Amino acid sequence: MGSPCKHPKVRVVAREEDIEYVECQECGEVFDSDEFRDMALEETQAKDGDPDDDEVRP
Ligand SMILES: [Zn+2]
Repeated sequence: MGSPCKHPKVRVVAREEDIEYVECQECGEVFDSDEFRDMALEETQAKDGDPDDDEVRP
């Protein structure tokens, strides 16, 4: 198997209530945007901490 697609380019193909369905322009996979956000979060969390922790309190 090759490297898994990271779905760099997606577009919204359908919307239901508060759920958006997006399709990857690279591999054609369709998933809901919540799922996609989780995938994207996993990547950003690896290099980025919670910004709220850095806030200086008076
Ligand atoms: Zn993809």
